[in-house]
Amino acid sequence: MSFRYAALVLDAWLAVVHWLARSFHDRDAARAAIHDAWRGLPGDALGKAVMRGCGIEAPTRIVQVGGVTAVMVEDPRVERWFRAHLMPVQAQTLGRYILARGPVAPDILAHEVEHIRQWSRFGPLYLPAYFGSSAAAWLRGRRPYWDNAFEAAARRRAELEAGGPRDAAKS
Ligand SMILES: [Zn+2]
Repeated sequence: MSFRYAALVLDAWLAVVHWLARSFHDRDAARAAIHDAWRGLPGDALGKAVMRGCGIEAPTRIVQVGGVTAVMVEDPRVERWFRAHLMPVQAQTLGRYILARGPVAPDILAHEVEHIRQWSRFGPLYLPAYFGSSAAAWLRGRRPYWDNAFEAAARRRAELEAGGPRDAAKS
């Protein structure tokens, strides 16, 4: 009888050790999954929803720029979405999705890719932080778009990569 208990305890102990070992092994995978979920909600989901909402079935191409994966939706039908905005939009980044009416020029791509980095850093907090930054600029009597901290960072990035100041893309 006591042998059976000993076996049970041993089995339970082995199960715990096995589980711990597996968790330790899969830690990177777990971290990657959490990171993906953080970035994917709501950015990628929003990007995909807008793409589909414009009647576009699939992205135009996937590009790797500066260690970042960008899902390009370069299609005149995004006009439907851009038209709904108060200010003119050249290109827009939602999660890893970059939306534009047509092929995106390299300087605009560099700007939008910085927005992808911002999305991946802030995840679900990105939109509130973005609009908060615009509101703060506006309350200080500055320009809500131009003086938005996220836009300024994206502009700097595009300028750095182009090797000089340029007129930046919108959003
Ligand atoms: Zn921008």
